Amino acid sequence: MHKPPSATIPLHPITDTNGLEGRKIHVRLTEGRFQHLRRLISWPLLAAFFGLVWMQTNGTSWLLFDFPERRILLFGAHFSWYDLHILTGLMITAASLLFFVSMIWGRVWCGFACPQTIWTWIFIRIEHWTEGRAALRQRQEKMPLSGARLARRLLKHTLWLAVALITAVTFTGYFMPIRDLVTQLANANAPATLVGWLVCMTLLTYINTGLVREKICLHACPYSRFQAVMMDDQSLKVSYDSERGEPRGSMKLRNSVQQTKAAVGDCVDCNICVQVCPTGIDIRDGLQAACIDCAACIDACDQVMLKTQRPTGLIRFAAAQEQPQPQRFWRPRLLGYFAVTLIAFSSTGYALVNKKDLVVEIRRDRASLYREFSDGLLCNFYQIKADSFDPGLTQINVSVSGPEGLVLQGPETFLLDNSGEWTAYRVCLTDPAAGVLPITFNFSDQSRIWSRSSSLITSTSYQQR
Ligand code: SF4
Ligand code: SF4
Repeated sequence: MHKPPSATIPLHPITDTNGLEGRKIHVRLTEGRFQHLRRLISWPLLAAFFGLVWMQTNGTSWLLFDFPERRILLFGAHFSWYDLHILTGLMITAASLLFFVSMIWGRVWCGFACPQTIWTWIFIRIEHWTEGRAALRQRQEKMPLSGARLARRLLKHTLWLAVALITAVTFTGYFMPIRDLVTQLANANAPATLVGWLVCMTLLTYINTGLVREKICLHACPYSRFQAVMMDDQSLKVSYDSERGEPRGSMKLRNSVQQTKAAVGDCVDCNICVQVCPTGIDIRDGLQAACIDCAACIDACDQVMLKTQRPTGLIRFAAAQEQPQPQRFWRPRLLGYFAVTLIAFSSTGYALVNKKDLVVEIRRDRASLYREFSDGLLCNFYQIKADSFDPGLTQINVSVSGPEGLVLQGPETFLLDNSGEWTAYRVCLTDPAAGVLPITFNFSDQSRIWSRSSSLITSTSYQQR
């Protein structure tokens, strides 16, 4: 059982990027249990991102942010401006869950599931396939560019741009039907604005994950700025066990000190943990804001420990503070995050279950309270607008109930094309009693009825009351 890392691990301020600025980081690939775990998480997420956009049922996308129609399609449900509270609830649930997870496991989101990290690893792999290992790339950096290297570099950038373009098209496919988008692109008749957008998105992805990578995590990501406040000294973070590792020394030095019986730590100073780090930091310097908890250094160091026949875990997930006493898992702040997550989740779930399929607005004609016609009918005038939030609900029948002899004049069937247009209706009665009579508008499809209360004004006594 290893001791947790030293309680005095320094926390580097984010402004100190350990000389990363201007330095090209050549990331060495490594293998290990955390790299397998990241792949286990990344592949389903990538499959969902690239696959979901093509999924349809009866021509309706499973997920589409349809801004022209002011709606979001999500697995058969329609969300619109009317459901903003549900979408807000979903976002609060996701944010509070992130807080909860961060407090237990630190920045695992950054290291294992953030799109920035997943795409960065794809781009690093492409770099590895085309230009060779990190050490080779680093060596060749100082040499003049040969024809073969230029060709490999061009291939790398072409592949990066191809991945960036596919990403841009897929991402855009969540905002307009992807089949239309691809058809327009294939027939070269896509509007200039769409082409401009795709070019911007492609360049943004290419620059973001190909050229600037870790600088986004360091300088642009808001989460990296405030994640420290979510954690406490029991939160797990990737940490170097300095008590066990120091004083570090190479194998050569180690062999020489063995003769003098001087104390030497487990770190063989091979620097591999730095070479595999996608943000280029040395975790042995202590916890740093630039560390995204990707655990690549853990896998790399574990391999070194196995080769040098030492116990693994010199770098590992550990709490920052030494805890001689067993600590309670459910500390108050964690309980608070859990409670907020639970409340947000249950309220959003309740709102989802009770989500409205149909929203009807009924407006009285305020210019004339009622009008009497020569055939003896007394009529009130209404404007009705209805929006459907159920893809299966495309039209409804309209009827009215109330005092005997009530007549509804207007279209019996109401098309729910969500055009936002109002439709005029009259409700009439022969020989009505004076006053304000309660009536009910009924909207129905084959199996459901929605009712809205209203009133029929039959005399000016309404105004005197
Ligand atoms: S990989 Fe492990 S042994 Fe090598 S320098 Fe890093 S901490 Fe030391
Ligand atoms: S220090 Fe280790 S965990 Fe942190 S970013 Fe670098 S490789 Fe990943």
